[in-house]
Amino acid sequence: RTVAELDGHLVECRACPRLVAWREEVAATKRRSYADWDYWGRPVPGFGPADAAMLIVGLAPAAHGANRTGRMFTGDRSGDVLYAALHATGLASRPTATHRGDGLTLRGVRITAPVHCAPPENKPTPTERDTCRPWLVREAELLRPTLRAAVVLGAFGWQAALPALAAAGWEVPRPRPVFGHGAHTTLRRADGGAPLELYGCYHVSQQNTFTGRLTPAMLREVLAAAAASAGL
Ligand code: SF4
Repeated sequence: RTVAELDGHLVECRACPRLVAWREEVAATKRRSYADWDYWGRPVPGFGPADAAMLIVGLAPAAHGANRTGRMFTGDRSGDVLYAALHATGLASRPTATHRGDGLTLRGVRITAPVHCAPPENKPTPTERDTCRPWLVREAELLRPTLRAAVVLGAFGWQAALPALAAAGWEVPRPRPVFGHGAHTTLRRADGGAPLELYGCYHVSQQNTFTGRLTPAMLREVLAAAAASAGL
């Protein structure tokens, strides 16, 4: 199976009843300022090349962001911060992401999430996180030949990504590495394959960026370190 085929299957997924209902209700009712948008309202696949050397793992699509535009971190404030930093570090062709047809491309980076459907209040349940995990496992397996580094945004993504990466064949140290901004650990492979350099970074949520907990410079620093590890 290819990454494109995986994405094609993912967008048909209806495994989480609460999230299916929510993503479709949001798409049907819309936010007034986006009344003329045809909301995506489905699972949002990863964005970026299938031979990415670096993976960015978020949390879940935002109701009026990626759930509207159909592309990860596209069309909301979190994405504004992330894409500006990716552009500043030479990893994105443009500093802004507005819609799927805006021509933005990523260089060697793929952006994904452990939960692919927008959850109420941006809070997936543990069951929903676990139900969605196989998609991240398969994505990581497909990227494995080229993947060398990953940046996980936030503690939820960290908790979800470690078991997924373990299921995809990387060895997660015990005790499990603890999430923190700037956390860095190396995940080796029992099969002798290339290790994965894993970085933690505060999530680009408005809560973090408006309060200055995560500054653009802090984000750029982690992205640059991961990019260097990935040979980008
Ligand atoms: Fe499927 Fe994941 Fe969406 Fe649940 S969150 S319906 S598992 S794509």
